[in-house]
Amino acid sequence: MCGVFGYVGNRKQDLSGFLLAGLSKLEYRGYDSAGIAVLQNGKARIFKEVGELKNLKRALNGRKFEGEVGIGHTRWATHGQVTKKNAHPHTDCTGKIIVVHNGIIENFEKLKARLIKSGHKFKSETDTEVFAHLVEEFLTKKTTFPEAVRRAFRGLEGLNAVVVMSNDQIVAFRRGSPLIAGNGKYGNFISSDIPALAEITDKIILLNEGEGVVLSKDAVIRIRPDGTMGRAKTTTIKMKEVTADKGGFSHFLIKEIFEQPEVLMRVASNEEDEIKEAASLIKNAWGTYFTACGTAAYAGLAATYMFSEIAGRHVNFAVGSEFPYLEDFLVPKSLLIAASQSGETMDTLEAVRAAKRHKSKILALVNVPGSSLERLADYVIHLRAGPERAVLSTKSYIAKLAFFTLFAYTIAGKYKKGVELIRKTSKKMAKLFNDGLESDIKKLAKRLVNSEHVYIIGRGVNYATALEGALKIKEASYIHAEGFAGGELKHGVIALIEKGTPCITVVANDKARESILSNAMELKSRGGYIIGISPTKESVFDYWIKVPDAKVASPIVSVVPMQLLAYHLTLLKGFNPDRPRNLAKSVTVK
Ligand code: GLU
Repeated sequence: MCGVFGYVGNRKQDLSGFLLAGLSKLEYRGYDSAGIAVLQNGKARIFKEVGELKNLKRALNGRKFEGEVGIGHTRWATHGQVTKKNAHPHTDCTGKIIVVHNGIIENFEKLKARLIKSGHKFKSETDTEVFAHLVEEFLTKKTTFPEAVRRAFRGLEGLNAVVVMSNDQIVAFRRGSPLIAGNGKYGNFISSDIPALAEITDKIILLNEGEGVVLSKDAVIRIRPDGTMGRAKTTTIKMKEVTADKGGFSHFLIKEIFEQPEVLMRVASNEEDEIKEAASLIKNAWGTYFTACGTAAYAGLAATYMFSEIAGRHVNFAVGSEFPYLEDFLVPKSLLIAASQSGETMDTLEAVRAAKRHKSKILALVNVPGSSLERLADYVIHLRAGPERAVLSTKSYIAKLAFFTLFAYTIAGKYKKGVELIRKTSKKMAKLFNDGLESDIKKLAKRLVNSEHVYIIGRGVNYATALEGALKIKEASYIHAEGFAGGELKHGVIALIEKGTPCITVVANDKARESILSNAMELKSRGGYIIGISPTKESVFDYWIKVPDAKVASPIVSVVPMQLLAYHLTLLKGFNPDRPRNLAKSVTVK
């Protein structure tokens, strides 16, 4: 899920700085290494460094390179270790074909063996380098550069986006992985996503599956998969909707946590018709399946409980990467609801493609407008969470929960009641912040910072909250945290509880209340230190975090203390909450 960026235009005074600025917007996609290539008078200069972009900046030490063509990359390694040698860009044997890549070339071993046999010399362990040599093979006297790239790309298996620079042109192709071209006053651009183009142009070109573009100084030409070419039409995008800054907060993560009451208000002022249409799709489907990955998956799991309780309806759920193995159930009357913040999550897109093979209907819940998921879906609902930049998902999670709550209420014929509940929950969450939740959590974080393990239990719909809370804590603070269904611990996990082991118990004022409190007691009897997230103080708690009683919307408020806890544990550990290791915001590889 690397980030790729490229520019062709009238000579840029500080092309290297311009590429670095573009890459800084893409760093959420990966920060294992970064690299740029700048073409000056037909000669390419390549600079790369391991680690975050700042390391590359430091290595350039204020030097500026002017030029008319350049590409850049931030890497999230899939093939080949995180080393300078494996950092992109990669080149062919001549050094004239320069490639950056997002994706996995699934048949790279076969291709590499063949290329080595015909004399190509490899410098890295990556799958990416294969592509540079493959283009070299196709680039004969009779073939143009764009045609050589197209032919080489046709031979790749897997989901990939490639950007290739040679002489004064950039040629890029995509299948599965995202790629957006832009057309601006100062030249033409290519990028993994729209926000990276925000300060440059609002005119973008979306590429269909298997398509490519040739960028030259004065034109963007579309190349269709069969090789025919045509001038690319541009679409104008409202860039304000896709960009964000920290707005005075020290990190995106904390800013986005605090934005959540506002997000709920935006969800509450949804388009009634849109929600009613979604509800009738669910009602009429022969089976409704939810799919999503990571945090979004936990929202999907929560939805199964909400639908049962609020709407008396059965819905199925599977994580995106597993869904294709369940596709044999699908029929044209099935409905797949796919949720993704970015709309580019590869595993979710693969699930959607599986459903499409069976001609099932697709309803997408997506935050970023214009995404691949949106384009694949038959029906789309925008999450209205605003740009989410922190790698850890927070506000898009609660937006999904709020929409699922609304769907369930609407199916039960109580749309207005659902809206009212979300509105009230927003107010309650705002009050929770005003009442000093953060200072309580800071104290708790100090107590937990040296813990090796944290266990979190919940029951019913808050089983999903326990899983999500644990994910937040481990993603950024690297403290081992696990969420469990409260009743499951005694079937094995309780063996891990020792004197002082922190056990967070999510308690809501619902039918699971008594049972989860009993489970907390079981943990306490083994020495567990019980931290209760609950509207009421209970005798079993050693530490109480008060949350409002949000009725069936309890997962929306109960997760917030754990989001804040994850943030403060991470700060205390001295890590950057916006840059968790090994992760990237948008997971665009399988
Ligand atoms: N497979 C390439 C690499 O490991 C690109 C990875 C990606 O897009 O995440 O360098």
